[in-house]
Amino acid sequence: METQILDIGEDSLSAAKNILEEDGLVAFPTETVYGLGADAFNGEAVKKIFEVKGRPQDNPLIVHVHKDYDIERIVCDIPSYSYKLAERYLPGPLTMVFKSRGRISPVVSCGLDTIGIRVPSHEGGQRFLKFVDMPIAAPSANISKHVSPVTAEHVYADFCGKIPLILNGGKCSGGIESTVLDCTGEVPCVLRSGLVTREMIAEVAGDCTVFVPKAGERVRSPGMKYKHYSPNCRTMLFEYERLEEAAAEYKKERAAGSRAYIMCDDGCAKRLLDKIPAEHMLLLGNSGEEIASNLYFKLREGERVADIIIAIAPEDRGGVMVGVMNRLTKACGG
Ligand code: AMP
Ligand code: MG
Repeated sequence: METQILDIGEDSLSAAKNILEEDGLVAFPTETVYGLGADAFNGEAVKKIFEVKGRPQDNPLIVHVHKDYDIERIVCDIPSYSYKLAERYLPGPLTMVFKSRGRISPVVSCGLDTIGIRVPSHEGGQRFLKFVDMPIAAPSANISKHVSPVTAEHVYADFCGKIPLILNGGKCSGGIESTVLDCTGEVPCVLRSGLVTREMIAEVAGDCTVFVPKAGERVRSPGMKYKHYSPNCRTMLFEYERLEEAAAEYKKERAAGSRAYIMCDDGCAKRLLDKIPAEHMLLLGNSGEEIASNLYFKLREGERVADIIIAIAPEDRGGVMVGVMNRLTKACGG
């Protein structure tokens, strides 16, 4: 199969719609990462997402809709705090989980009676969803366990020859996947951290909990239990306080002939300038938002150039960094 990368316009959107209507898959941009989409009503098409990604059969997909789509057609029991959250944060990187009306294919939710709904803010992504005017089931457009894609080229690297069309919307600005919020209870509960933080949700909803799985307890967001986000090279992760040890590890690897690279935020890089040449650094930036935006891009760059990425965790741990640390830890082997 030939895989085309096309800019978003009338012709490419018509092609996308045709592919989706014939049970096919289309990759499309969002403000977080690229998605691999199928018609969410079409179980046969949705099955192909699991096949082509090698995704575990119990890891449900998020349903993406355009901003004027009436979600009450597909989910019910929507609590009043969700309307307030939608008003404030949608379109945007927040997925809300509601009770399903049973119309979306059960393949999407892997047998759960709930559906995660997302309204992406990316202009090209919105245009695509509006044009096809169907709910689109989509996980991130990467081979399962690999780093999520933030450019059309990243999607191509994983799915060349396996999907017909990638809609090109440039580099995703958000950089890490959406916050997943369980909205089936009286108080919303964060199942996966992201750019819309617990604090931002609590500010609007009055309260917000964070799901922390206890030993033996059923995982409420099945995707969180899997190895994830891993680059195709060796990785190590050091705490910020242990940057000297990271530098020593870099030196040891280089002496052994390995292409070792240090991945860290800009502040940390300044402290290492006398030890690590700038061209061996994968710089993540300064603020939590900047680091989130750069993380997957730099992990993908790292796997192209490095035998080993030696990452140093940023010092800041609040807000968006909760989600960043979750991804960085998993990328470096948990
Ligand atoms: P991905 O599409 O790769 O970003 O993964 C989607 C994430 O959303 C996974 O962590 C899923 O477990 C989670 N998710 C999707 N649908 C649901 C749902 N109905 N209930 C709980 N978590 C969900
Ligand atoms: Mg994913």
